[in-house]
Amino acid sequence: MTKFLLDKYKGFEPYVPGEQPQGGYIKLNTNESPFPPSETARKLYTAAFDRLNLYNDPENTALCKVIADRYGVSPENVLVTNGSDEALAFIYMAYADETHPFVAPEISYGFYPVFSALVGAEKKTFPLKSDYYIDEAAFINCDDNVIFANPNAQTGTFMPIGQIAEMLKKPRLVVVDEAYVDFGAESALPLLKEYDNLIIVRTLSKSRSLAGGRIGFAIAAKEIVSELKLVKYSFNPYNLGRAAEAAAIGAIQDEEYFRKCTAAVIGAREYTEQAAKALGMTVIDSRANFLLMKCPTMDGGELKAELMRRGVLVRHFSTPGLSEYIRVTIGSMEQMKTFIQELKNIISGARI
Ligand code: PMP
Repeated sequence: MTKFLLDKYKGFEPYVPGEQPQGGYIKLNTNESPFPPSETARKLYTAAFDRLNLYNDPENTALCKVIADRYGVSPENVLVTNGSDEALAFIYMAYADETHPFVAPEISYGFYPVFSALVGAEKKTFPLKSDYYIDEAAFINCDDNVIFANPNAQTGTFMPIGQIAEMLKKPRLVVVDEAYVDFGAESALPLLKEYDNLIIVRTLSKSRSLAGGRIGFAIAAKEIVSELKLVKYSFNPYNLGRAAEAAAIGAIQDEEYFRKCTAAVIGAREYTEQAAKALGMTVIDSRANFLLMKCPTMDGGELKAELMRRGVLVRHFSTPGLSEYIRVTIGSMEQMKTFIQELKNIISGARI
């Protein structure tokens, strides 16, 4: 550590992303799509290459329009970002500090407490209920700004939008991170017509097969989008590059491919859930592209290591409440059949 580093970063705990080995594993650890990006995305992305000598449109007008048309809002309600992580960062920078915390579920996306610490806000959380669902009453009853993923991160459980509407009735911000909403959950988008204190955060990393493209967006009232742009233009005006913007436009326009991929993931999730339960695993109800599960005879860390030895990479969190579990991203049906076979081998004590 140099003598130049500011005191506030000494001992600071950054976000730790999942492992990204370059090949060699059936990769079920970071909730990516097992399917390649859409052909339409490929064509537009390739065409954009020829103009990479020029700066992109800092407003990303073309993409904002495509998003607005797709989700039935106006382009002024849309802010596009370098991954949805950046949308979340802008939200914390604009609205959180020592006296304005965001309350989050104790088990949720690991970046929320990191952003919170980065802007000097107090870390405030509510525990999940015993069934691993978010405690909606705690969020409805408190007065702070709130943030949660729906479906929730790490668990996959989902909250009906009626409960979100209850939270919005108080004069505070409600941020709903819908990274996983396309895998069978209900979006809070219809609530935007009635509430101007709602921010919806989306990503193209999961259901649109563009994790490496780094594209996310926020949808909110025009005033909120303008405030988030204040942060963006003070930080990184050209935040979403030309190539990523082109790929995003193609991915959103190719609705047929999107439907095909999300349906395949939902089908593979149903198969995996049933097959894992048949092996004696406890599996949490999920509307996301992953399943949180635990084995009655083995700790999550041990199970992850055993799977890894057999070429299957899953995610394990050593945080309280999660250490018994593994989180398994839903891949293709073929990948999930291999995962189930290896799980069976481990449980039955087969040697490799
Ligand atoms: N929100 C949630 C709940 C997530 O799980 C993730 C991905 N790990 C993100 C946001 C960020 O996704 P990205 O930056 O790739 O859009």
